[in-house]
Amino acid sequence: MLTAAIDLGGTRIKLGLVEDGAVAARDLLPSDSAAGLAARLPAVAKALDRLRAGRALDAVGFATPGIVDRRARRITAINAKWADAPGLDLAQWAHARWGAPLTLANDALAALAGEWRHGAAAGCDGAVMLTLGTGIGAAAVVDGRLLHGSHGQAAIAGHLTVQVDGRPCSCGNRGCAEAEASTSALPALARADARFAASALAAEAVLDYAAVFRLAGADPLARDLRARALAVWSALAVSLVHAYDPAVLVVGGGIAAAGDGLLAPLRRHLDAHAWTPWGRVAVRPAALGDDAALLGIAALAQEP
Ligand SMILES: [Zn+2]
Repeated sequence: MLTAAIDLGGTRIKLGLVEDGAVAARDLLPSDSAAGLAARLPAVAKALDRLRAGRALDAVGFATPGIVDRRARRITAINAKWADAPGLDLAQWAHARWGAPLTLANDALAALAGEWRHGAAAGCDGAVMLTLGTGIGAAAVVDGRLLHGSHGQAAIAGHLTVQVDGRPCSCGNRGCAEAEASTSALPALARADARFAASALAAEAVLDYAAVFRLAGADPLARDLRARALAVWSALAVSLVHAYDPAVLVVGGGIAAAGDGLLAPLRRHLDAHAWTPWGRVAVRPAALGDDAALLGIAALAQEP
């Protein structure tokens, strides 16, 4: 079964041809999201046609940020980027181009589907994946089923409140984990601190958590931002464990590259503060990297 997988991101669109649970061919396009998704679809189709080299597609999987109505196969809502996406009929686009059915899913949910089928959560009956990056994604497998929710909102647990009366979030809430410690929130968090001008962070070309973790040993602001972020992600992890009762917590996304600097404090916090009298939740790094959402959306697209 040959499936085209599309993973729509804020800076890159990842494309893959998936066959037998592996990415057989891939391509990467710049997002250019300001012009909208409709304007990018011809380039996406052209790149996929190049990859498939004349072979027929059996299915198309499309992973996207935002809230997805998977039954209607429509994007219900999406943050500032890709503003035109909710009005698009992607199923019709895929059918007209390749005569193939389209499966649409949230990207955090697709990434967990990939890790659950082929990666760090393979064989688990219950798993949660936390994707820490530009935004914060969270998705859950409970009792052997991916949670979608009545309106596709089960995959937006990055918007769980971790700070009552916290910072305003793009979603309308206050104190969401995504508003308190994500790559998109970090520049404002850093610049709001009186120490910013004197901090080594002010000289960084890219202000992200890789820089924060790298400078935290010597720079007081970086040290405090790291501590704050670890507290936010740890609080979110405890809430996810309490909500979904997973055996495994998979941590992925760009920030997860911090490795043990991230995972060890998360494990310590869960051991100390999660109410799991049966034992310990296993905390594992994502195993599939950038391929997680491609493999996951392909797996979902191949389901009957
Ligand atoms: Zn929010």
